[in-house]
Amino acid sequence: ATPTAVMVATGVGAKHGVLIKGGDALERAQKINYVIFDKTGTLTQGKATVTTAKVFTAMDRGEFLRWVASAEASSEHPLAKAIVEYARHFHFFDGPSPTKDGETHNKDSTISGWLLDVSDFSALPGTGVKCCIDGKRVLVGNRKLMAENGIEISAATESFVVELEDSAKTGILVAFDDKLIGVLGVADPLKREAAVVVEGLQKMGVEPVMVTGDNWRTARAVAKEVGIKDVRAEVMPAGKADVVRALQKDGSTVAMVGDGINDSPALAASDVGMAIGAGTDIAIEAADYVLMRNNLEDVITAIDLSRKTFARIR
Ligand code: ADP
Ligand code: MG
Repeated sequence: ATPTAVMVATGVGAKHGVLIKGGDALERAQKINYVIFDKTGTLTQGKATVTTAKVFTAMDRGEFLRWVASAEASSEHPLAKAIVEYARHFHFFDGPSPTKDGETHNKDSTISGWLLDVSDFSALPGTGVKCCIDGKRVLVGNRKLMAENGIEISAATESFVVELEDSAKTGILVAFDDKLIGVLGVADPLKREAAVVVEGLQKMGVEPVMVTGDNWRTARAVAKEVGIKDVRAEVMPAGKADVVRALQKDGSTVAMVGDGINDSPALAASDVGMAIGAGTDIAIEAADYVLMRNNLEDVITAIDLSRKTFARIR
């Protein structure tokens, strides 16, 4: 392609909100064999909603949510935001509760005064959060987090979580003082165009792959909904780049589409990295393409544009 053709293609891309970082990136996109999609925030809307909150002990549900929201309040994770948001609504409709200073709390839309003091907080990427509230150790996260801390999951709890996961929800386990006391279910719907884009890629001879830190059951349920057969789940952030490298081994050209900090090693390792949506700055920096509209159709636009620009000179 002539420099003019590259310039024209870059301009057409920009009109669709597809920002291309240079002619090499534009050229590589025509050869893409695999597109790896991150699940949360890329295939899904990234707007998680709590659908279930179950306490297994005599603890009041509002009080349970207050503890869990307090633990999650310092986390940036979309799941954490969903939990805090749910607790906020629950608190609002549940009436006034005593604040931490023992006064009656005004029913307002903020919960900062309602939340409990947290110490020793740590966010554990890929597993959850850990902290201390009122002298109790609090853990909120997945099975891996519970296993790492020696917390037993009863058969009844396990089947409750499995039921959530089989319906594409993420089960979040909660332990106080080394005892599992409740479970939350969180749903994050697919983007409306996701299934059509997956089908479109297959028609173009491109193989879609899904990669996620979430558990296998939820991952399989989401993949089935969207029509992706090749799924990799329970992948820790660094492992996403390994998935890219494994697919590149036979000389294939691999694209990665992601939105999060945990996707940036994979975006950098891929032949064509595409940061989607508002994305994090780190993801945008690691990518060759930025899909500003947060619409998966633009993955196809990007490949099309490259194929059309470079087809003429073959
Ligand atoms: P993804 O690859 O889908 O973006 P992450 O690597 O961010 O997923 O997280 C993987 C899993 O770790 C989540 O599905 C969840 O089970 C657990 N997790 C991570 N952060 C949190 C948190 N703040 N609260 C509860 N669970 C969490
Ligand atoms: Mg993500």
